[in-house]
Amino acid sequence: MDRVADFPAIPSGWAYLDTAATSQKPQVVVDAITRGYGETYATVHRGVYQRSADMTLAYEAARHRVAGFIGGKADEIVFVRGATEGINLVAHCWAAANLKSGDRIMLSMLEHHSNIVPWQMAAERIGAAIDVIPLTTDQRIDLDAMAAMITPAHKLVALAHVSNVLGSVLDAKRATEIAHSVGAKILIDGCQSVPRMSVDVAGIGCDFYVFSGHKLYGPTGIGVLWGRAELLDTMPPYQGGGSMIDRVSFEKTTYAPPPGRFEAGTPHIVGALGLHAAIDYVESIGLDAIHAHETALVRDTRAALSQLNSVRLFGPEDSAGIVSFAIEGVHPHDVATILDEERVAIRAGHHCAQPLMAALGVEATARASFGVYNVPQDVAALVRGIERVTRIFG
Ligand code: PMP
Repeated sequence: MDRVADFPAIPSGWAYLDTAATSQKPQVVVDAITRGYGETYATVHRGVYQRSADMTLAYEAARHRVAGFIGGKADEIVFVRGATEGINLVAHCWAAANLKSGDRIMLSMLEHHSNIVPWQMAAERIGAAIDVIPLTTDQRIDLDAMAAMITPAHKLVALAHVSNVLGSVLDAKRATEIAHSVGAKILIDGCQSVPRMSVDVAGIGCDFYVFSGHKLYGPTGIGVLWGRAELLDTMPPYQGGGSMIDRVSFEKTTYAPPPGRFEAGTPHIVGALGLHAAIDYVESIGLDAIHAHETALVRDTRAALSQLNSVRLFGPEDSAGIVSFAIEGVHPHDVATILDEERVAIRAGHHCAQPLMAALGVEATARASFGVYNVPQDVAALVRGIERVTRIFG
């Protein structure tokens, strides 16, 4: 697979290996955004004139496209700013209606801060407690431990489908079955899975699923919360304002049904159009092909790096598109700086997963993550750069 020609912001010879942070944008997404603002722009849901009616149709078509993409229904798709806002929405609205003092929430050791902190804030507000599922020796969420830990006091489980640090893939169906066995609901953080593998929320059976558009080759500022209709129906609104109401008076305001109830204010209209184009783009390649492509790049990277004595690799062998590593005696920031001189862009730091760093016994890691535009030459450039790092510090 060589899709680099589709990406105008990737110059020749630059190995962009930071897709887990955000993906580059294909020309078709840039074009959809340009058209949205430059040709077809108007507000949605309000205007009676034709342009606005057309834009409303396009915005709602994007919602249908997202629903088809993950196997949900259109009225179960809430457009949000990103995964962070989607998780905060559930941690406010679902938790407000369903959690009480003494209830328990279950997370895992490898969660991104955005799937930890909103739950801590909710737990503090409500008087609930949080339990943390440990990792297996090959650094996956330990579902046997989850099954042993879970009790009827657990009302909600929130887990990453793919770890943004380790690339480990969760058996989301089994995790859902374990959560449901005690009557708990489960939210899956799909930030790193939707760009790398096909996802079917109905097949998984989960209750909530969130992801960000900008990691899926789409724009920033648009993301998705999918929630089962009967759950969204019972949830109070997140924010108040225009669009989320049924009727407003100073005596009493009633709210619109989902998803409008959760989309107060003028939405990110063109963002939704960009996300639609991004989904068309990844589906034109095929998620299975993308998955095979990225796991092959991971395999080659791990094989090459495991030849270098000073390199410590994290995560399982079958990681989905993400490789975290450390070089003995070298700070990950120095690794990333030297690699940048070699025109290889990687991420270094705690990756918004400080509890995971503590569990791994490191302050930070270096992380290479792949996308549809990466080619074996990028792996070669990465490995050459790391060899240079080990020579400089050796
Ligand atoms: N969860 C995971 C697993 C992530 O990788 C990220 C982004 N790094 C987030 C949540 C948060 O996404 P965003 O910042 O786009 O809201």
